[in-house]
Amino acid sequence: MAYVITEPCIDVMDKSCVEVCPVDCIHYEEGKDRKLYIDPDECIDCGACEPVCPVTAIFAEDDVPDQYKDYIEIDALWYKDADAARARVNELKPPA
Ligand code: SF4
Repeated sequence: MAYVITEPCIDVMDKSCVEVCPVDCIHYEEGKDRKLYIDPDECIDCGACEPVCPVTAIFAEDDVPDQYKDYIEIDALWYKDADAARARVNELKPPA
């Protein structure tokens, strides 16, 4: 299992989660990404990131609300093909 960053992060990217993650498994590329991504292979499920997110974007995989389920796949995809993940994000929430 892993934690997942969902839609409320888009265009917010507060980054408090990055500061508290003990294994540095939350990544993004400045200027290219509209949200942050958790590496599901590196996440140790500690839960430290979830309460510090000011927009409640982070959930344990099993607790991701139905309307945000796509982000489970999208976070993992970013670590294999970042552009494909960015395209999925833009489909789900087109840039303003
Ligand atoms: Fe990092 Fe822990 Fe959050 Fe996983 S649950 S992303 S290890 S802070």
